[in-house]
Amino acid sequence: MKCYMAFLAHETNSFSPIPTDLSSFEEAGIYRPSLGPPGQHLSLLKGVADFHAEAQRRGDEAVVGLCAIAQPSLPCLRRDYEALRDEMLAGLRAAMPVDMVLLMLHGSMMAQGYDDCEGDVLARVREIVGSDVPVGVLLDLHCNITPAMVANATAIKACKEYPHTDFAERARELYAIIAATAEGKVRPVTQFARVPMLGLFQTTREPMRSFVDGLIDREREPGVLSITLAHGFPWSDFPGAGAGVLAITDGDPDKARSLAESIGRQFFALRETAQVPLRDVASAIDDALRCKSGTVVIADMSDNPGGGAPSDSTFLLRALLERKVRDAVVGLVWDPVAVRIAFSAGEGARIPMRIGGKLGPSSGLPLDVEATVLHLRTDAAQPHIADGYPVELGRTAVVDVDGIAIVLNEIRQQPFHPGAFSAAGVDPWQKRIVVVKSSFHFYAGFAERAAAIIYCDAPGALNSDVRQRPYRRLARPIWPLDDISM
Ligand SMILES: [Zn+2]
Repeated sequence: MKCYMAFLAHETNSFSPIPTDLSSFEEAGIYRPSLGPPGQHLSLLKGVADFHAEAQRRGDEAVVGLCAIAQPSLPCLRRDYEALRDEMLAGLRAAMPVDMVLLMLHGSMMAQGYDDCEGDVLARVREIVGSDVPVGVLLDLHCNITPAMVANATAIKACKEYPHTDFAERARELYAIIAATAEGKVRPVTQFARVPMLGLFQTTREPMRSFVDGLIDREREPGVLSITLAHGFPWSDFPGAGAGVLAITDGDPDKARSLAESIGRQFFALRETAQVPLRDVASAIDDALRCKSGTVVIADMSDNPGGGAPSDSTFLLRALLERKVRDAVVGLVWDPVAVRIAFSAGEGARIPMRIGGKLGPSSGLPLDVEATVLHLRTDAAQPHIADGYPVELGRTAVVDVDGIAIVLNEIRQQPFHPGAFSAAGVDPWQKRIVVVKSSFHFYAGFAERAAAIIYCDAPGALNSDVRQRPYRRLARPIWPLDDISM
C-alpha cells in the first residue's frame, strides 16, 4: 500500500508574547523531500518517524512530505501558515494516487485568519483524496477538537500520556486502523463529545492514571477501535477550546456516541481532583528548603515555553536570590542577548549582566546582577521527550550569581531531561534545588532521581488563574470560569 505522511504542528497560545512565522518552524528544523530520503533525516521527521518505521515494518510504500513544527507561541503569520500548508498539500497531490494518508498535527494550531488550522488542512486533504481514501490524524492530547476535523478525518487519535511518552505506540495503533480501513476490514465511525472544562491533567498521578488505564481497557471491548481523551489547550482563545472525548467504533455510531458521552461525563466529574496541587513562589521555596537531602525539582509551570510562555521570567529566580538560597540551578532561561554577552566576556569572566524579564509583563522585571561566566557551549542538546532524538539548545551559557547557576540558551524550549543541564555544563543532581521552566514534560526525565517535585504557580504567561486570562472568544459556559454541571 502507498501511504502519504506529513507533519504540520503548532500549539497556539493566543496570549503568548512570542510571534510565530516561518523562522519559528525553521528553528526547530523542517524536513522537505528535497533534502533526500526521509530515513536519513529521522530527527527532522519528529512523529512521522513512527509512521515511517511502521510502513517499513509492513512493507508499505511511504511517501513523506513536509514535516514542520514550531515551539508554542502566538497564531502563525497567515502568509507563512498558508505556504507551509500548501507545500504539504502539494506533496500529497504529487503522490496521488495513494491508498492512505497519515498526518501528525497538533490539534490547537491557529493562524491569522484561521481559528482551526487542522480543520482547514483536513478539509483540503479530503478534497484532494476524495471520500474513499482513509485519512488518519495523530494529535497532541492538548488538542481542541472541531467539527471540521471530525468531518474530514477517518480516524483521529491523540497521545494518552502527559508527559507525552506514548506517541510511538499511538502512531502504530493509528496506522493499524487506517491500514485496516484501506483494506476494507473495518469501517471507523467517530463520535465526539465536548467536555466544557479547561485545565492541565497529568496522567502519571491519580485520579488520571486509573482513568487513562480504564480508557485503554475499554479500547479492547469488541467493536471499539479507539478512545481519545482530548485534554484541550486552554490558551487557544476561540470557541472550540476545551476538553472532549473521541470514540471510534467499527460501524456503530450509537455505541460510539454513548461511549464518548459517558466517558466525557466521567472526566468532567474528576475536574476538581485531576490537577496537581500548586504552590505559590514563597511556599514552593519553603517546601524545597525543608527537604534536607537529595535534589528537589521545582517546576516553574507558568514560564513553560512548551505552552507558549517566554521562558525568561524572573519571579522564582529573584525570590531565590532574595532569600539567599545557594546551590540551586535554574533553566532553561531563554535570553539570546545575555548568551551573546557571556560569550563575548568568556569563561571565568565576572561581568554585570541583565538577565531575563525581556519579553513583557509576564516575564517580570529583568535582573541586574554581577555574574561569573562558568561554562560556554556551542553544541548542547537534549533528548526529545517523544522520540529521544537530540534537540539543539542553541549556544548555552551557565553563569553563577551568588551561588545560583543560571542556564541561559538561544533556542527557546523546556528542559525535558537532566541532559539539558549537563549538556550546558552543570550537573543538576549535584544541586540542592533545580528549577525547570516546564509544566510536566520534565517529569519523564527527572522524577526517578528527584527527592521531591514541587509544582509552582508563579506569576507569568501560563499562570493557572483562568480568570486573569483576557479571553474574548471562548465558548461559555465552561469550567472553571463558570459553575456548571454535566
Ligand atoms: Zn501537549
